[in-house]
Amino acid sequence: MTQLVWFRSDLRVHDHAALSHACQRGESVIALACICSQQSLEAGESSAKQSLWRRGLSVLRSSLEKFNIPLKIIVHDESASLPDQILSLCEALEVSHIHFHHRYEWRERKLAHAVKKTALARNVLAIGYHDQVIHPPGSLTTGKGGYYSMFTPFKRAWYRELTPDAWQTWPAPTPQSKTNITADRIPDPWFPAKGCHDDLWPAGEDVAQQRLAGFLEDSLEYYGSERDFPALDGTSQLSPYLNVGLISVRQCLDVIAFHQGGHIPDAKTGAGSWVNELIWREFYRHVWVGFPHVTQGQPFKQHYDGLLWRNAPEEFQRWCDGRTGYPLVDAAMRQLNSTGWMHNRLRMVTAMFLCKHLLIDWRWGERYFMSHLVDGDEAANNGGWQWCASTGTDAAPYFRIFNPIAQSQRFDPKGEFIRRWLPPLQDLDDKRIHEPWKHAVDDYPAPIVDHKAARLRALDFYKA
Ligand SMILES: Cc1cc2nc3c(=O)[nH]c(=O)nc-3n(C[C@H](O)[C@H](O)[C@H](O)COP(=O)(O)OP(=O)(O)OC[C@H]3O[C@@H](n4cnc5c(N)ncnc54)[C@H](O)[C@@H]3O)c2cc1C
Repeated sequence: MTQLVWFRSDLRVHDHAALSHACQRGESVIALACICSQQSLEAGESSAKQSLWRRGLSVLRSSLEKFNIPLKIIVHDESASLPDQILSLCEALEVSHIHFHHRYEWRERKLAHAVKKTALARNVLAIGYHDQVIHPPGSLTTGKGGYYSMFTPFKRAWYRELTPDAWQTWPAPTPQSKTNITADRIPDPWFPAKGCHDDLWPAGEDVAQQRLAGFLEDSLEYYGSERDFPALDGTSQLSPYLNVGLISVRQCLDVIAFHQGGHIPDAKTGAGSWVNELIWREFYRHVWVGFPHVTQGQPFKQHYDGLLWRNAPEEFQRWCDGRTGYPLVDAAMRQLNSTGWMHNRLRMVTAMFLCKHLLIDWRWGERYFMSHLVDGDEAANNGGWQWCASTGTDAAPYFRIFNPIAQSQRFDPKGEFIRRWLPPLQDLDDKRIHEPWKHAVDDYPAPIVDHKAARLRALDFYKA
């Protein structure tokens, strides 16, 4: 009874439901990962994310070897042929069961469904487990039985249904007897080398665990008050690791509970605020499954589909390059372009600026983020963009328009973050740095739009 574990966005050996079940069930365990450049292209994934995944796979291969679990790799051109290829491998290796974790992107759900169906037809049982969330989509519903479309009631239900076994981690795999089956080589990168930022995002579950431990020690206590200030590095920067599964949400909650005397805080403490963000992550996964139209490029609030965006390509390019003339927006875009990551406050500021100041379709920005973020995540990215464009679940109302100057003064009061990314503004003092157009500065563009005029234009646009 050989068991196959299909690794997807879950590149770790610890707290791995599928691997744990496979080890308990079978006489021998084999691992599988599938690589499809076409699929990554369709998802619009960045080189940075693909590189983190590939390097994470390489570490996983070595970790699995310690348990005598060889990693097989299927490289395929398009997902339609993958179920057959997986099942051919199963036949060759006499596999009786396939174990895998669910993913919630529609493409991945379709694929897993096809694998299950093909497996069944060939007398192999494919079993899916929920891994990315504490409460699987569909398990938290409103009084009427539907999916939640507002975060706060979702969060209440999330806490209400939470029991300690929800964050209990899965037993580590057991070593298998030695096998003649050899592990496959990890293919050379199949994505452009430019923009990988490998030095900034080392791979491996140990790295992710160290990052979590460092965050708990240095920042968790102050998270509630510091999380909005990009110069402080007060957030965990675990998003890339959560997204490729180098660490699990259960492992995060497990250490939080350990530090908090065995429970998950919901108060306005540092730990409670951090858990709140993990719940946002989960909320958007539920939205992704419960409201499939959002996975098809449509606004959550469908009446907003009629908005006639300006879509000015030259202005879009200036936004992408960090040349809008608004320092906080530009510094943020340069952080993204240079590191593959952007602070959450700045994601909100830049996204809202694109939609509301420039009236450019949020889907353009969503794609740009996806193609540059090392933590690109379809559900969270879409949720964040629709929040900023006021088209989403419990989005900012359309008349809420961040003032990029006020945001800059409030969240980067000394201009430290701005100076880090915009050398031409180095010499401006803490006050002037937020409005460089009022002072003589070389090598920095004039504002792309006047804030007050853009605000009024956006209000008219949304009203119409
Ligand atoms: C326009 C926009 C686009 C975004 N795109 C993505 C994306 O592609 N991938 C992504 O993981 N997050 C995205 N977010 C959410 C958020 O900005 C990032 O998760 C966060 O900045 C990651 O940094 P961190 O790990 O230090 O977060 P922390 O503050 O340490 O939070 C812990 C974890 O909670 C989750 N999280 C935090 N904030 C949010 C949020 N608002 N929504 C959903 N999950 C959250 C992340 O998994 C994060 O790692 C987006 C937000 C906006 C406004």
